[in-house]
Amino acid sequence: MSTVIAFIGLGHMGGPMAANLAAAGHRVRGFDLVAASLEAAAGSGVEPAASAVEAVDGADVVFTMLPAGRHVLALYRDGLLAAAKPGTLFVDCSTIDVADARAAHEAVTAAGHRALDAPVSGGVTGAEAATLTFMAGGGEAEFARAEPLLAVMGKKAVHCGGAGAGQAAKICNNMILGISMIAVSEAFVLGESLGLSHQALFDVASTASGQCWALSVNCPVPGPVPGSPANQDYRPGFAAPLMAKDLGLAANALRAAGVDAELGLRAAALYEDFARGPGAAEDFSGIIRTIRERSAR
Ligand code: NAD
Repeated sequence: MSTVIAFIGLGHMGGPMAANLAAAGHRVRGFDLVAASLEAAAGSGVEPAASAVEAVDGADVVFTMLPAGRHVLALYRDGLLAAAKPGTLFVDCSTIDVADARAAHEAVTAAGHRALDAPVSGGVTGAEAATLTFMAGGGEAEFARAEPLLAVMGKKAVHCGGAGAGQAAKICNNMILGISMIAVSEAFVLGESLGLSHQALFDVASTASGQCWALSVNCPVPGPVPGSPANQDYRPGFAAPLMAKDLGLAANALRAAGVDAELGLRAAALYEDFARGPGAAEDFSGIIRTIRERSAR
């Protein structure tokens, strides 16, 4: 069944996601503040709208793919919710604070609409290839309504629970990833100082209890895993600034909930420094170089 979709935020992720919805036969009306992004989307079957409000007029489902919670909440409150027809489903795919996601759900439902938070993993290549994983928070009915559309843009959608549960799952997963990448990197640097070859440590740890994605797939040293970013001078991959952003959201949630997670907070601080400095354009596994440099001082 063809759905009328508004898609707000046509950047690196939203552009290809909207294009995939249009290619599947849905009517997609898109809007972005950047004219070039709007033009690029128009070239892939998305109808450009003059404003976000114009895009949602008459839409059945409204997708947002925006930088942060403040953008989502501002758009919702400054006209989007008022412009939508009653019962419109608002699906926010941006990665935002859990608290902002919950506030967004409240604003949407108070305006007589339906809400789902559905952040993604899989990056730009996943958005282009329609292989994203969606982590969704909201009601059963809202998830069921969104699922066929999420299936057009991704390979997997997990319903994680109520309002904000998708964002919660995303930051918890990425906190494991950020901490484990630092752990793997520290182990390689310690191994180097003890005269242990990268390959030997990899051969042992990748088949022993040290095994994890940061080691086995995204290995931070060149050699053992030929496809990992370390073999391409740390070209992303998963860019360090995005890891810093996600760990920052995790740190906000940790503090708000009073969870005593020393490693999560430390990882957030290390990635913030790295992303502001040498990691600005690198894969997050490049943090091993910082650990090595600091150790040599
Ligand atoms: P991006 O900066 O490329 O795209 C965001 C777009 O939103 C921009 O084009 C911007 O012009 C637009 N925008 C901002 N305010 C707007 C407004 N008021 N009205 C209309 N458009 C507006 O960012 P991205 O890489 O596409 O990421 C989008 C979201 O997806 C972020 O929350 C990010 O954390 C998340 N995410 C990104 C990746 C990735 O690999 N890039 C992976 C997973 C999740």
